[in-house]
Amino acid sequence: MDIALKIDVDTYRGTLEGVPRLSEALATRGISASFYFSLGPDHTGWALRRVFRPGFLAKVQRTSVVSHYGLRTLLYGVLLPGPHIARKASHVLKATAAAGHETGIHCYDHVYWQDNVATREAAWTKQQVDRAVEAYFEVFKQQATSHCAAGWQVNPHLLALEDTYRFSYASDCRGTQPFLPVMGEYFGHCPQLPTTLPTLDELIGVDGNNTSDAVDHILALSETADGNTHVFTLHAELEGQQLLPEFLRLVDAWQSRGHRLVSLASLRKGLDISQLPRHELTMGMLPGRSGTLALQGPRV
Ligand SMILES: [Zn+2]
Repeated sequence: MDIALKIDVDTYRGTLEGVPRLSEALATRGISASFYFSLGPDHTGWALRRVFRPGFLAKVQRTSVVSHYGLRTLLYGVLLPGPHIARKASHVLKATAAAGHETGIHCYDHVYWQDNVATREAAWTKQQVDRAVEAYFEVFKQQATSHCAAGWQVNPHLLALEDTYRFSYASDCRGTQPFLPVMGEYFGHCPQLPTTLPTLDELIGVDGNNTSDAVDHILALSETADGNTHVFTLHAELEGQQLLPEFLRLVDAWQSRGHRLVSLASLRKGLDISQLPRHELTMGMLPGRSGTLALQGPRV
């Protein structure tokens, strides 16, 4: 089984600390993974507003947000100005690519995107994606070819932009296998490679599961797949920091079971776009996450 590793990088601290650790640990195992960067200002502190949303407090207690993200990160945008990640950490971004990993766009401003995109219009969406595309180009001196929506938050205008920018693929949602999306009136041509496995933080602390149980659960789910491939999402802020030992146990177990750990670009290369099914892209709930997120819906 090919399992693609999709690494979301949400914060400045995650970029500086989590990314180099993951990049090195994976490269020494001969693995080329995919890193998706938040490229603009880190406004994680704004996320404190989410405290007032149902489900968030339970998640905070389960996963201990302060110890994962650090107090300083939680103050960006509140008491401290949010550092511009692509400018202040461009050396980390470049080093990640130099280590043989794929790089792509997560977003420009994670919190601003996550909290607004579902209800915003075309112009707002274009401004955010344009800023991310420009910031990516400034660092890498080449066009981005992939987009993985922050917080799995999307709208139909994003799908249109992914076509305009001729991205090779996007991974904006949760689902079971690669597909071409339709959302509202918009029929997209950029294939979606959804995250197919649960994340570690969605499992830890749920139903009495400890971290080791969560790893075992993901291993069991990895043995079969609707599309014969899997996409696993991890975060520089979690698996690149406190959960690194458990994540590496998962990686080593996957490899010892004969699974191939690859980048999403590699998964995309194996796809015949003309053969992909078309599915709705819908918003819905998922166990272990608060609020709604983008899901692979019914086939159309
Ligand atoms: Zn993210």
